[in-house]
Amino acid sequence: MMQVLKITQLAENLWALDEISKTNMFVIKGSKYVLLVDTGFGLSDLKEVVKGLCGDMPVKVINTHAHLDHDSGNNQFDTVMVGWHDELAALWPLSEAEKLRCITGFFGPMLKDGYDLNQWNPGPAKHIEPVSAEDRIDLGDMCLEVIETPGHTCGSISLFEPNLGWLFTGDMILTWEVWGQLTRGAFGSSSCLRYYSRSLNFLESLLPKVKDVFPAHGKDIDNPPGYTHYRMPPDILRIYAQGTRDIVNGKVKGEPYDSMGGFGRCVYFEVGGMAYNPDRI
Ligand SMILES: [Zn+2]
Repeated sequence: MMQVLKITQLAENLWALDEISKTNMFVIKGSKYVLLVDTGFGLSDLKEVVKGLCGDMPVKVINTHAHLDHDSGNNQFDTVMVGWHDELAALWPLSEAEKLRCITGFFGPMLKDGYDLNQWNPGPAKHIEPVSAEDRIDLGDMCLEVIETPGHTCGSISLFEPNLGWLFTGDMILTWEVWGQLTRGAFGSSSCLRYYSRSLNFLESLLPKVKDVFPAHGKDIDNPPGYTHYRMPPDILRIYAQGTRDIVNGKVKGEPYDSMGGFGRCVYFEVGGMAYNPDRI
């Protein structure tokens, strides 16, 4: 039976919620508030899940970016924060075509196991609260800094807790090639590569203060030493920043690349890689 949601405790106050082995959401429990990072496809009752882990505490919700595998559960909450440049995309309900794409592309194994799709009711939050650089999400005994990291989408944000050295990077950095080539109009499209690179350079500058990097996707097997489904070592910041600079500077061009996210080229790094549009550097 396929598990819709697998919960893994990563630290005393941190849990990863792995939805259908596809998307990692995170629950961060502060002394005053709980923060839920992303709402995935929205296949589970997220309020109940958070309550089960943290008890009856007030919950804040934020999206790393406005893509359907990260924000489709937003309608379970009144207010969801999102990077200001993804605000418009976060307001749009999923079209029937997008719903069908999820069902055929991602939900196959669940349906085979008898999951009733009538339970699935994705949608935008009643209220979107745009956030930008300098915003702080105060949870009481910990405080997350919003970092604007245009790249995978123009409104992608990363969250940094400086005392703990925790960095949540959404889809900016993964153990497989990231999509920096998205050109689907306003629906969460990528920035040009030069700005993706700039974001990665900034994340690299945090390297001495970072202990753990938490990505929004991961894999269970074939991870390099020190990497897990939910956690990457800080050195990944150097690998991505250097690798992407080399593309922007014309040192490497990679190979032709085609995917559901569009056509372009891809350069593979020591870990992960960058899919990009050579006309948008
Ligand atoms: Zn994603």
